[in-house]
Amino acid sequence: MGLLRSAVLAALIATPGAAAAASDPLLVIHGGAGVERGDLNADEERAARSALEAALRRGYEQLKAGRPALDAVTAAITLLEDDPTFNAGRGAVFTHDGRNELDSSLMDGATQRAGAVAGVSRVRNPILLARAVMEKSEHVMMVGEGAETFAREQGIELVDPSWFRTDRRWQQLQRALREEAAGQAHADLETARHFGTVGAVARDIQGRLAAGTSTGGMTNKRYGRVGDSPVIGAGTWADAECAVSGTGWGEFYIRAAAAHQICTRIAYLQESPARAGEEVINKRIPQMGGDGGAIVLDAKGRIGLPFNTQGMYRGWIGADGVPHVAIYAGEKLPLPPE
Ligand code: ASP
Repeated sequence: MGLLRSAVLAALIATPGAAAAASDPLLVIHGGAGVERGDLNADEERAARSALEAALRRGYEQLKAGRPALDAVTAAITLLEDDPTFNAGRGAVFTHDGRNELDSSLMDGATQRAGAVAGVSRVRNPILLARAVMEKSEHVMMVGEGAETFAREQGIELVDPSWFRTDRRWQQLQRALREEAAGQAHADLETARHFGTVGAVARDIQGRLAAGTSTGGMTNKRYGRVGDSPVIGAGTWADAECAVSGTGWGEFYIRAAAAHQICTRIAYLQESPARAGEEVINKRIPQMGGDGGAIVLDAKGRIGLPFNTQGMYRGWIGADGVPHVAIYAGEKLPLPPE
């Protein structure tokens, strides 16, 4: 897009009452579907809400400046990865053997180009590495040490693994290990709770969509386990019509090709994002034995926020630049007019 056209579009968006631009910009984020009432004290809850708002504002700045949806997704996720509240980047959950292994992916809806990384433990912002895989390599997915070698070559920030460690997550692992030793039923296990992946989907002023997801995975996961978050079509999907980022019990999201299935329903059954999300996340995944949530955005700007847990950190920001966030089930979150 020429500079002039982008400035005009940006001005249109910023001017109240101005004719709608090509597409109103929209950004939707999640911070995981495993939050339960009682998990957060008042200060933590306030901090979580303001982190979501900050991520929305950060991503929206990109859209308002006429930059691609991919930039908004990357900017919002980077901020959430750095915030220890969420299970991505700093504050990631621990593996069975006490390590943090991070997974991330992103996808550009307009071109269906995608990038993903899995099992990295030294990359401060895995979403930036996923983007580099997409833009600077011939590949779609890189894992472990190889991915970190590529990060080094690309000048992407590497940190000591202790950067990711928080005491709260360490205590969660200790509890999970105790529960496992006691042979507790799965539904009550720490491993089956506290989904905390972060994700974003966006539509830019040219109407292009993008989706991205970043996670530490699930507490107490075993050697080299990779969940849905870096698997294109499972935890992340974007095409010209639809963008999805998921959070939940990754094994089921992979087996259901959850993110792709939601977009397929929107494309072929003409379902709304809310309906398609409901069918896949709140019906199909639980039928198979899983749980979790997702954020869904279509090219018309319709939003779906399905989840079947007690809460999902979630929020959106649209043309007026005002962030809207919610955490628990039952909390009202007004959506943009369709
Ligand atoms: N979906 C992630 C995984 O299975 C976990 C999460 O959403 O918190 O790795």
